[in-house]
Amino acid sequence: MLAAARPIDCDVHPWLPGTAALHPYLDPFWRDQVVERGIGSLDTQSWPVLSPKSIRADWRDAKGRGADRVELLRAQSLDRLGTDTAILNCLAGVQIQLNQDMAVAFARAVNDWIRAEWLDRDPRLRASIILPTQNIEAAVAEIERLAPDPRFVQVLVLVMGENPLGKRTHWPIFEACVRHRLPLGVHAGSAYRHPQTSVGWTSWYLEEYAANQQAFQSTLASLITEGAFTKFPELRVVFLESGVSWLPSFLWRLSKTWKGVRFEVPWVDRSPFEIVRDQLRLTVQPFDVPTEMVPRLLDQLRGERMLLWASDWPHWQYEGDAALPPGLPEALLPRILRENALETYPRLLQGAMA
Ligand code: ZN
Repeated sequence: MLAAARPIDCDVHPWLPGTAALHPYLDPFWRDQVVERGIGSLDTQSWPVLSPKSIRADWRDAKGRGADRVELLRAQSLDRLGTDTAILNCLAGVQIQLNQDMAVAFARAVNDWIRAEWLDRDPRLRASIILPTQNIEAAVAEIERLAPDPRFVQVLVLVMGENPLGKRTHWPIFEACVRHRLPLGVHAGSAYRHPQTSVGWTSWYLEEYAANQQAFQSTLASLITEGAFTKFPELRVVFLESGVSWLPSFLWRLSKTWKGVRFEVPWVDRSPFEIVRDQLRLTVQPFDVPTEMVPRLLDQLRGERMLLWASDWPHWQYEGDAALPPGLPEALLPRILRENALETYPRLLQGAMA
């Protein structure tokens, strides 16, 4: 059904089956460290692979595993949905490391694993560069190392990191993103340096998953108020797996308050509404909007160019092949399924993609 639109899937997740899988991509010192520390089977993703939401039930093998090789992505998503291009966002959890040197080594290895075991095996695939944000200089060096490969089309961080994302310590990353025409992808998830809510640690998955919305709100406010969008007008930020329903009300509050106290942040020279419309994009899985509210949401965002299609494979967001959320206006589907992604990710037009 979707294939005619040549859809671009902006959020799929290859699962790294333990640290041992990085063995060929680590230097001898870190290979030894994996053995010495006994962490070969360590899985540092926010949610364990056996957690029901991590991989949809019918996409698991008898041991409950899946999503660890390109053949599964082809059979379960690309071929079934008729996907033209898919962007791999690996959530391997390097952001959680407290040892900066280990984070840098693992980020490099994960990126090389993605390149060799996914990108090289299917011409429909593109990927995000995983960053070791524990060390900004090394994070920029990782962008520089991989930017010559046009199949890397985005830079990826988690929404809950060490510090608010708009802080100036992160700006060298934004500068490198603009230099190489790489959007900054911000995915749901935490480095667990802080509680997942502003009022403390959560007890349940439900609480934590829903709390990502707070983190996306704070991240958006940080990027705007610190002046990151003004300093880098060409920077595009993509919120991945953020949901969308939270944005209009939060933006209304932010823009209204900005009108009253903008003397405090004179570098924010446009309404947050305008900044968001020009520089922020959102993926539509999960799409947390009742069908009857969709037209109103699109009107409130004033942004038919803001939404990007994503399946979020292999996360359990939909049943069967119903990867397109219901209620999206037919007239906008060419934009949401393809054209918005081409505008957001200029590097998709480079390389092998005609
Ligand atoms: Zn996702």
